[in-house]
Amino acid sequence: MASHVIDEINRCLQCAKPACRQGCPIHTPIPEMIRLLKEHRLNEAGEMLFDNNPLSLICSVICNHERQCEGNCVLGRKGNAVQISTIEHYISDTCLDNMQIKCLPDNGIAVAVIGSGAAGLAGAIQLARLGYRVTIFDSKDRIGGVMQYGIPEFRLPKSILERFKDKLLELGVRIRLNTTIGNALRIDNLFRDDYRAVFIGTGVWRPRTLGVKGESRGNVLFGIDYLANPRQHNLGQTVAIIGLGDTAMDVARTSLRHGAQHVTLYGRTNRIGASTEQMNYTQLDGAEFEFGKQILEINEQGPLFRQLILDENGNACGELPELLQVQADSVIIAVSQGPRRRLVDTTKGLEIDEKGFLVVDENGQTSLPMVYAAGDVVTGPRNVVQAVAGAKRVVAAMHQK
Ligand code: SF4
Repeated sequence: MASHVIDEINRCLQCAKPACRQGCPIHTPIPEMIRLLKEHRLNEAGEMLFDNNPLSLICSVICNHERQCEGNCVLGRKGNAVQISTIEHYISDTCLDNMQIKCLPDNGIAVAVIGSGAAGLAGAIQLARLGYRVTIFDSKDRIGGVMQYGIPEFRLPKSILERFKDKLLELGVRIRLNTTIGNALRIDNLFRDDYRAVFIGTGVWRPRTLGVKGESRGNVLFGIDYLANPRQHNLGQTVAIIGLGDTAMDVARTSLRHGAQHVTLYGRTNRIGASTEQMNYTQLDGAEFEFGKQILEINEQGPLFRQLILDENGNACGELPELLQVQADSVIIAVSQGPRRRLVDTTKGLEIDEKGFLVVDENGQTSLPMVYAAGDVVTGPRNVVQAVAGAKRVVAAMHQK
């Protein structure tokens, strides 16, 4: 690993206009990170990464680097891009636990953060660093949101999230787990209890349905529900997964690790929503892909598809006369998620758009004064780094108020 990291930092050209940085949603100063490491200033590199992106360690593991920093590295045009993720991981992993995080003095202002996924976690850290008294509320029994309950251990070791929990406590953040805002406690109660502002980062937990007959059958599950606790589900040997995105890949790989023998992902087109890396690993793990399959219903045997003929662009241009009845022990639907309505239903005046996402202004303020939101609950499902970038912008705006 060490020699690999050294080789990679030595390959970097230190571009004056670094395309890698442009390709990063949170504009990580990549040449600077590499320069500091080459100068043996590891701790400075770690602090610089944390300042820019408090979830740098997590992003170094699960970001879609091929579409972001590494996909934009100039060396990738004619050969191999610098392995930026490996370098960032080495620095952030080495530095996180012992890093002395600089904070402004306590300003006495309490802020409530609802949700501890990527946006909530990043928002809480940023607010604490600015001197706010932060309390996180999360309905689950561990922090991390989808990073904890939706991304499998083999992709993101949960020990990393525990290290972030320690960091939060070190920053003086209070964490109330198993506490749902929008149940016994509501946003009104938070203002009653002297919180000056509320930051919502509740993510997307409501599975999108297919709208076909059979979705409530006993042989069917939603992907996000399966991933929350795979050991509790007995899927049998043959698993049919509807969807080609990241969640579908995670479901496939997890089910293979839990005893499934034949796992197939079905898509209406051949457009894969997941990263190429994720898809390649899913294939390596043993899953298969079937394209041009339009789901019509799910019955006791498994999914029933209309078979589409795809043109060279992957668009449907016809269909075969016969339907395809797939035999599967379990069917898992993994075609994206939307937000739950608990906060909206219990908070007068909290506006959502037609898809259920919170409506915010350019500062991330919702339709209610001093109630802000960031992450997937605003944008729809995105990746961790985009949620962190959004949270960072919103916290900066909150701090200006
Ligand atoms: Fe280094 Fe590649 Fe970034 Fe240029 S684009 S600074 S070579 S990592």
